[in-house]
Amino acid sequence: MLTFRSIVSKIVPQWVSEGAGVRLRRSIATRTLDYLDPFLLFDHFGSDNPDDYLAGFPMHPHRGIETVTYMLAGEVRHGDSLGNQGTIHAGDVQWMTAGGGIMHEEMPGSVDGRMEGFQLWVNLPASDKMMTPRYREFTSEQIPLVERPNGAKIWVIAGEVDGVCGPVTEVLADPTYLDVELQPGCEEQFAAPADHTAFVYLFEGSGQVAGEEIRESPALLVLGEGDVLEVQALDESMRFLLVMGRPLHEPIARYGPFVMNTQEEIHQALRDLRNGTFVR
Ligand code: FE
Repeated sequence: MLTFRSIVSKIVPQWVSEGAGVRLRRSIATRTLDYLDPFLLFDHFGSDNPDDYLAGFPMHPHRGIETVTYMLAGEVRHGDSLGNQGTIHAGDVQWMTAGGGIMHEEMPGSVDGRMEGFQLWVNLPASDKMMTPRYREFTSEQIPLVERPNGAKIWVIAGEVDGVCGPVTEVLADPTYLDVELQPGCEEQFAAPADHTAFVYLFEGSGQVAGEEIRESPALLVLGEGDVLEVQALDESMRFLLVMGRPLHEPIARYGPFVMNTQEEIHQALRDLRNGTFVR
């Protein structure tokens, strides 16, 4: 028998300033929700005011994690120590595995003043924390759109919906990452693997999520155990991300852009950075 997931906690994103002074809304990696295994951080950046984002994220290190950046508007220019250069635009996704160490910069730009997107940090298991770094980009054309008979639109960034697979495939936590748009009155169900952590990030409109009416957006809704998620738009349309992934159940030690299993590994990362041996 299938069980429906329900909401176990509602997170109101907090405004924080990151990088060289980018204002963004954070819902994971806050005092309220430090870690939602395997998800270490979830940021929603978005503004009509270039002053909020143009300073960007100049060259900085990462170790022990994977990051997935998904753009809704504007663009982000990326450059890293692997020699990758690229710009992602609305609807594009960038996926980076920091592994043993990468240095990169993420510099936002805009098309018509607006810039909006999301960055998710996914933890790496202890066995893969020091793996060789890698970087990939997918354009909006490479991200399949599933349209269901009731008009629901589902962009499949990672995972599978109705037999359609997203292009982001090798993230170690085996994540599902969907961008879903529902028209008023539209009801949808999503398979949610029972052993996977799951959350909904409602960022436009309002509606019923897992049996509860959510009127305020943006909001991050952590889901409890079950196999199915039910979402229904009520009197207005709604748009949300559904993100799921296999938890690691490992100890974490985090310090800014480094996420390892022990404090000693964090100290090692700092030593490597100092000695110029961070990027191998
Ligand atoms: Fe970064």
